[in-house]
Amino acid sequence: MKQPITGYHKDAEDHWVAELACGHGQHVRHDPPWMERPWVTTEEGRNNHLGVELNCVRCDEAGLKVATALLEECRKTLIESYESAGISGLCDEGQFESAVGSIQTLDLNKIVAKALSTTKG
Ligand SMILES: [Zn+2]
Repeated sequence: MKQPITGYHKDAEDHWVAELACGHGQHVRHDPPWMERPWVTTEEGRNNHLGVELNCVRCDEAGLKVATALLEECRKTLIESYESAGISGLCDEGQFESAVGSIQTLDLNKIVAKALSTTKG
């Protein structure tokens, strides 16, 4: 997920870290010939790169965790609702409608919070 650079700081090893809008940090090393970022060595260069977007892997990971948790909750809720409607004597169509409707009851905040709580640490 692309995130704009909002600032910079140095880490304990004196390497520049770009601060991204999402709150995550990302090293922006100038370490030729492996990593060419001469702009990071000057204040002017760094200022010129404010607003430039970097791909934030940590945001990608968090997004994937949320998406995976949501898929799993949907699957679980659909199956439970479908089976429960079947036990209640609904026809196939009724079971299907019940299952689809059950997705509306999912607590997205809870799913997101639970998914991201396992990201930390
Ligand atoms: Zn991020």
